[in-house]
Amino acid sequence: MNGIVYLTGAGPGDYRLLTLKGRDVLKEADVVVYDYLADERLLDFARPDAEKIYVGKKAADHTLSQEGIIALLLEKARAGNIVVRLKGGDPFVFGRGGEESRALHDAGIPFEIIPGVTSAIGAAAYAGIPVTDRTAASSFAVVTGHEDPTKKESSIRWDKLATAVDTLVFLMGVHNLPLITKELMAHGRAADTPAALVRWGTKPIQETLVATVGDIAQKAAEQQFKAPAIFVVGDVVSLRPSMQWFDTKPLFGLRIAVTRTHAQAPALTRQLENLGASCIEVPTIRIEPPSDDYAALDTAIDRLTEYDWLIFTSTNGVDAFFRRLALKGLDSRALGQAKLAAIGSATADALLTHGLTADVVPRAYCAEGLFEALSPHLRGGEKILIPRAKEARSFLPDTLRRKGADVEICEAYQTIGASENKERLEKLLTDGQIDVVTVTSSSAVHHFLDLTQDASDKLDAVTFACIGPITAQTCREKGLTQILTASTYTTAGLTDCIKDWRLNTR
Ligand code: SAH
Repeated sequence: MNGIVYLTGAGPGDYRLLTLKGRDVLKEADVVVYDYLADERLLDFARPDAEKIYVGKKAADHTLSQEGIIALLLEKARAGNIVVRLKGGDPFVFGRGGEESRALHDAGIPFEIIPGVTSAIGAAAYAGIPVTDRTAASSFAVVTGHEDPTKKESSIRWDKLATAVDTLVFLMGVHNLPLITKELMAHGRAADTPAALVRWGTKPIQETLVATVGDIAQKAAEQQFKAPAIFVVGDVVSLRPSMQWFDTKPLFGLRIAVTRTHAQAPALTRQLENLGASCIEVPTIRIEPPSDDYAALDTAIDRLTEYDWLIFTSTNGVDAFFRRLALKGLDSRALGQAKLAAIGSATADALLTHGLTADVVPRAYCAEGLFEALSPHLRGGEKILIPRAKEARSFLPDTLRRKGADVEICEAYQTIGASENKERLEKLLTDGQIDVVTVTSSSAVHHFLDLTQDASDKLDAVTFACIGPITAQTCREKGLTQILTASTYTTAGLTDCIKDWRLNTR
């Protein structure tokens, strides 16, 4: 039986501009066929086992011809697959969606079109340029700028187009800018009409050049302004100063490598991206079961009622603890009267998801802060359980024992170096593509440095943003020089500290 093909608009760049329907079909897809304009993070919406086929089309390097792409879609659909054909922007705006849907129709293969945000409108909007405006434009047209200049008869009716429409947006026009502007002026568009180029619109590397129809071709040549860009002509361009919102964000243009685990990175990435940063998630660690087994933790769980206090020093510890509890058919009620301490707000939140409120959360989210906050509650002789990582520091158990507590540590998980990003990280560093690296634990620092050994001479150019003083100390001990330390030891604090640093160094 035939499958189905979804011709899906991926939006212009910012992967969050994908439609909900687009995300739904990506989740279902057996095969994803994608272009080079689509952000590769879109592929993360697909199942890990979905087949992902790159058919990228840059002007000069056709990885697969259009006929080849169509043949591929037919073949995959005939084999019964759910196929998502992901295209930059909107599939029907110079996306050759027409040819692909016709071919599918002729072959009797079911297909659907899922529109996307076209760069013609989206890239302009991210540059603070509205394509229509009550004061400045009551019409707009989207035009190809890719016409062969040697072609005798242009299919563009320059005589009509040049002045009939208020806002003109040319796609694929960077190369032909001299010709386009010449035609516009020859057919009556004033040379002083505002005009703008927006390159890589909606992406953190977005660049905008504002000029006039008369001089933009020359300015673009001087600045070596490159594709892909939209070319916008019209009075709406002059609205940009009052509508700019994206490229004025505090972290705009900053390239940040986020080294947290796969599970934890997205929340930090989102905070940084909301401030305009460009984030690359390169987990350097992953969380694994304890090196021996869960015996110690399981035994502790069997004797849970004996403990006066349970101390959690990370969300990973909370997760592992409650997973083991659930495996025994138990839940939060098994904790009985034991009091709870959490090292910070994220760990306290993790407890809250199990219906538990921490009795102690220190003001400073670190072992030292936790000890200080716990001290007043201890008289000596309390039995304390700390389910935590194998490689954690001894500060907390040591100081608690000195206070007379009976401290039991059990390994709930271990942190392992993740090497899948080694090549990618080295390449990014070697190409000077990383400005900041976020590190949220000392083990993340160790594993990051292990992974990037071969590019270690590039690390002087990189700023290490640390979640707290212990992680920062580890960076210093390792000889790193550019170090930022959050003053609140949370991801929000880390984000704030990067923001303050950027504002001060700009
Ligand atoms: N279907 C796409 C257009 C494909 S043609 C859409 O609806 O956006 C490719 C051209 O689109 C590029 O040459 C460039 O002019 C424009 N383009 C695509 N993405 C862009 C982006 N993020 N920023 C600026 N221009 C972009």
